[in-house]
Amino acid sequence: MPELPEVETVMRGLAARLEGKTLRRAALARGDLRRLIPPGFAARLTGARVTSFRRRGKYILMRLSGGDSVLIHLGMSGRMAIHGPHDTLPPPAKHEHLVMETEDGWRVGFIDPRRFGLLDLMPTDEEDAHALLRAMGPEPLDDNFTPAVLSAALKNRKTPIKAALLDQRIVTGLGNIYVSEALFRSGISPERLAGKVAGARARLLVPAIKDTLREAIAAGGSSLRDYVQPDGELGYFQHAWKVYAREGMPCERCGDNPGCPGISRIVQAGRSTFFCPKTQK
Ligand SMILES: [Zn+2]
Repeated sequence: MPELPEVETVMRGLAARLEGKTLRRAALARGDLRRLIPPGFAARLTGARVTSFRRRGKYILMRLSGGDSVLIHLGMSGRMAIHGPHDTLPPPAKHEHLVMETEDGWRVGFIDPRRFGLLDLMPTDEEDAHALLRAMGPEPLDDNFTPAVLSAALKNRKTPIKAALLDQRIVTGLGNIYVSEALFRSGISPERLAGKVAGARARLLVPAIKDTLREAIAAGGSSLRDYVQPDGELGYFQHAWKVYAREGMPCERCGDNPGCPGISRIVQAGRSTFFCPKTQK
């Protein structure tokens, strides 16, 4: 499931090709995904110019000249495919729910086989009041996400820190992968009670979260060529995680230290957590 760095990478890829362009056509293949797509959605996009993009948590907002913002959530399996005016178009993708074409011949499709994604429309000046966005916590890469802010949000919480960091009201954009990575980097056990991370450990955790996300974004792509894969899919390269999905593999921090059994896996709230049992306290 795409987390903040993947969504950021997809958004930058869209921005590189759509910003400033007028949409000649937008068409929906169905009226709903995870939720109903608002009636008139395609008509509102058609003829509008794309002015800018914004990411909020795992959501992409595409702003249009008429004052609308399009909300895009990739869900579990959603992806965007982009083709230029001189590309040979592949056969129509199954599960392509939205197609947008620019006046200069670019074509962007939203493909989502499992339909956990969503598309919505709202006035740009009311983005933050949207039902899915209004309760969101701080953006982890913003300067206002500080150890003090995280400490205040975690104070007295009795859930494990792993669960707290997945809670989008505490901090947005993190999922199972980057929570495991950031906790490893900060040396904090995923099982530690969130309330006990406030203070000194939050001063380790906040920079660990920021560095983990920044490195993943940097690995995702630095030019349009990086963003667009040969099949037109706007995506990201799965880069080298230090703990995620590495159960039983050597731990980078401990090396050959016999005290570390290697990267270990536990299940918390039904989801896997990967960590070093030796150094994460
Ligand atoms: Zn270790």
